Amino acid sequence: MLELKNIKKSYKTGDFVQHALKGVNIRFRKNEFVAILGPSGSGKTTLLNIIGGLDRYDTGDLIINDRSTKKFKATEWDSYRNNCIGFIFQSYNLISHISVLENVEMSLTLSGYKRKDKRKKAMEALDKVGLKDHAHKRPNQLSGGQMQRVAIARALVNNPDIILADEPTGALDSVTSVQIMDLIKEIAKDKLVIMVTHNPDLASTYANRVIEFKDGEMIKDSNPIKDEKENTGTVHIKKTVLGYLSALSLSFNNIKTKKGRTFLTSFAASIGIIGIALILSLSNGFQIEIDKFEKSTLSQMPITITSQAMEMDEQAMQEQMEKMSDEKGKYSKKKSVIPTDSMMEMMVHQNKITKEYVNYIDKMDQDLLGGVSYQRATGINMVTKKYDNTYSKVNTGTTMLDMWQIFPTRVSEKESSVVEDNYDVLAGEIDSKESGLILQVDAKNGVNKTLMETLGFDPNKEVSFDEILNKEFKIIKNDDYYQNYGQYFIPSTNYENLYENATTVVKIQAIVRGKEDKEMYTNTSSMYYTGALTDIIMEQNKESEIVKAQEVSDVNVLSGTPFDEENPKDTTLAYLGADSVPVVMYLYPKDFDSKDKITEYLDDYNKNKKDEEKVLYTDMAEMISTLSGNIMDAITVVLIAFSSISLVVSSIMIAIITYISVLERTKEIGILRALGARGKDITRVFNAETMIIGFCSGLLGLIIAYLLTFPANQIIENLSDLPNVAKLNPYHAIALLIISVTLTVLSGFIPAKMASKKDPVIALRTE
Ligand code: ADP
Ligand code: MG
Repeated sequence: MLELKNIKKSYKTGDFVQHALKGVNIRFRKNEFVAILGPSGSGKTTLLNIIGGLDRYDTGDLIINDRSTKKFKATEWDSYRNNCIGFIFQSYNLISHISVLENVEMSLTLSGYKRKDKRKKAMEALDKVGLKDHAHKRPNQLSGGQMQRVAIARALVNNPDIILADEPTGALDSVTSVQIMDLIKEIAKDKLVIMVTHNPDLASTYANRVIEFKDGEMIKDSNPIKDEKENTGTVHIKKTVLGYLSALSLSFNNIKTKKGRTFLTSFAASIGIIGIALILSLSNGFQIEIDKFEKSTLSQMPITITSQAMEMDEQAMQEQMEKMSDEKGKYSKKKSVIPTDSMMEMMVHQNKITKEYVNYIDKMDQDLLGGVSYQRATGINMVTKKYDNTYSKVNTGTTMLDMWQIFPTRVSEKESSVVEDNYDVLAGEIDSKESGLILQVDAKNGVNKTLMETLGFDPNKEVSFDEILNKEFKIIKNDDYYQNYGQYFIPSTNYENLYENATTVVKIQAIVRGKEDKEMYTNTSSMYYTGALTDIIMEQNKESEIVKAQEVSDVNVLSGTPFDEENPKDTTLAYLGADSVPVVMYLYPKDFDSKDKITEYLDDYNKNKKDEEKVLYTDMAEMISTLSGNIMDAITVVLIAFSSISLVVSSIMIAIITYISVLERTKEIGILRALGARGKDITRVFNAETMIIGFCSGLLGLIIAYLLTFPANQIIENLSDLPNVAKLNPYHAIALLIISVTLTVLSGFIPAKMASKKDPVIALRTE
């Protein structure tokens, strides 16, 4: 059943080659007690390791059951070791951190026995060697002889066909040696026992076949098999598997022997988890508080609909910025104004707030609204003669495109230096005490076409500064502009008539341009008027019929053409001095949920509408809450990233600790391999160890983080009056636990893999 054919084995250390076996030929019988004698270094242990499948021969063949082992796979060797071979070593090689019983059970564990069967068989084996009562002791609580008995019980328990003993009495006194030899002799009855010894007396007393070795060669065999055809029996090989649970319990026992270290490791590794758990609980809680706060306060912010809505197109913004930087240093030296397409104009969506739209708003579910307010701009009633000799009203108002503003000098006379600092006056002269207009051009003397048209200039032609400064605008009194229809006032559209009869003439006082180094002012065109102009208008209209009428009663000022005489209230909107619809509409939602319904309703209006007919609104509350949500997310991500650094550090630490553990447990690895553990099983043992540490550190981290939320909440409450902000979300807790286990297992993976690659022979030789 077992035959060595010309087995050779040599070890290379540097340039030196040690020939440990130089071509050994032996056949063994199924049932004999073979003693191998020889001086130290003659190759006995090497031979035993090769027979036991712990070490590989270089050349020759080891025949098991008439089968060559040249093509044996690693797992076949593992199975062979596990259930055909029982090893007994000189230094006992027991695993110190598990009990005697568990040591004996180990090879059964590796062959996948059930717990109950394992216990029974192991106890029987311990009984055989007379150590039943010591089953629950640790190996180091036993004497040398007792430990060797445990090793014998372990070698026996799986009922192997072959027992290999390497100087089993080498470390024992002579009396104990005899007891051990008697024991081995007894078990040798139905097995093949191959025992290495350098004691010729023991060999001759107990063995029925003595083989002598010298310098890697067999020099004597007292009882060789001479008949080629002699039947030597067969051995039986089963597969071995170390279950995950067994690996876990093995590592758990190991960890128990180094509680302090495990606790410190887990604590250090848990710091990252604590950090992340705390950040998550805080950001979670703050987000809830912010949501609550937003719901109560932001719902009071109206949804705003203005005649011009900005389309916050990022690309358009970018282009605008580029254009601005491009145009630095390209200031025009011309004495004329150039109509331009303004970038702003492209970004601005012209909202046509039509009567249809106002009606649509009116039809909205009124329960959603806490209130509605329409803002109507008061413009200056001003007419001019256009380039094509028609007359038109100069639209003034607070629109985004042509910003009609009081020129800054109005603020205070002293601050006129503000103007000097920021503007170049290209033509004319600013005199804020005189009524007049001021035109601001951009870097290239551009004025946007809409504003050009509004002022009565041809939007497609360059206009000289002189022409601009000579242009006349006439201010119309309210009472001339609005015609009294009893309860209603309607603006006149006969601009020619108004122009010819008006007496107050204003001109553009000056053309200004933002200074080149004041980027803020350079690139827009807009219209200003002096403070003196507003004084005149107020003075003129002091006794105005329409103003009085408005003050005393509910008089509607109507404008625009489609005035329905039959149903005036439905079709009219009070708007002094401009078009028939509001400039700004504010819709105040009743509460946060209504706000969403309102915006939905407003979105519905735009469905299936052409772009230019769409009415866009501004939902400031939404913008703010999105922004705050984004900021919160960003802060959380940044903080978690910081905490993750400690996770990385702890991962490296775990890798180092696992590596140390592999070094410490090298002997154990060797023992397990000798008992038939596969490389995979060894990986499993260490993965189990890191898994336990990962679980402990995750759990510890979560407990500490949870406990920390109490003082954290106390501090937050003292600072902000918000109770119980930090809350650990159970889903986050589970996720973090999984992350902790995964990370530690991953970081221990390479050392665990290294452990499985360890040569069992070298592993067993380490102390
Ligand atoms: P024995 O058990 O008879 O004392 P061994 O089988 O242990 O002898 O060793 C045989 C020879 O091989 C010795 O010279 C020893 O130094 C050498 N040897 C054994 N194992 C190794 C190894 N892993 N590396 C290098 N040399 C080794
Ligand atoms: Mg030896």
